[in-house]
Amino acid sequence: MPNSPAKRGHRSMAVVLVALALFLAVLILRRMVMSEEPMSWNPDSMRAKMVETQLIYRGIKDERVLSAMRTIPRHRFVPQRIEHRAYEDNALPIGEEQTISQPYIVAYMTEALKLSGGEKVLEVGTGSGYEAAVLAEMGCEVYTIEIIPELTQTARRQLDEAGYGQVHTRTGDGYFGWPEEAPFDAIIITAAPQKVPVALLDQLKPGGRMIVPVGPEYGVQNLLRLTKTQEGRVATDTLIPVVFVPMTGEIEGKK
Ligand code: SAM
Repeated sequence: MPNSPAKRGHRSMAVVLVALALFLAVLILRRMVMSEEPMSWNPDSMRAKMVETQLIYRGIKDERVLSAMRTIPRHRFVPQRIEHRAYEDNALPIGEEQTISQPYIVAYMTEALKLSGGEKVLEVGTGSGYEAAVLAEMGCEVYTIEIIPELTQTARRQLDEAGYGQVHTRTGDGYFGWPEEAPFDAIIITAAPQKVPVALLDQLKPGGRMIVPVGPEYGVQNLLRLTKTQEGRVATDTLIPVVFVPMTGEIEGKK
């Protein structure tokens, strides 16, 4: 039996709707394939979630650390092509075979330095510049050394663009510290030497703290906190197991 004009009209409408749905599906799929960015990219909410689920949930309590990591646009410190991954619960590559550390490890190490703001802090291993930004946001006077010149340059640019122009950067071997600016209230080493770089302890004030991952190259290391007493002795706390890229330069000859 021939279809009525009303039925034919409904069928054409259905065909148009299916075609439209297919067209939209292709557009969405194309966008997902062409761009690595998730469609719901919202750095502010991702950062808030990172602080909640990766830091507070795991026991980070220092409000200064939490507030700094809530504030700093971590995605500005990773290469642009992976900025949408900046709030993941892991380290990420930043070029030159180096990494920006996992957010939790940044928070843990910074909290372990027991800072109250205003301290003079030396960082060895600038990398992306993110840890230096965290320390600066907490009100510290930051000196950071990176052995790979290309990374110092990128970190310098990111720090300036993110509003942390006051951070002092330098290319060099952090093994020798920053003698002209010593002594420091705190020293944080974000690459792993196989033994404690004792030369740096000389640049620590009495009462100062040094955080350093010590252990084998590309293996599991121990995160140590060395505290210099008022009398100049050093007390060591072994904190947690960690995995860091190796500290290179002079220290390699001191195995
Ligand atoms: N703190 C960094 C951040 O926030 O992105 C992450 C640092 S990355 C895990 C370790 C860095 O230490 C690398 O950039 C590496 O080139 C640097 N490094 C290794 N040995 C060094 C040395 N002797 N002096 C200074 N930097 C060093």
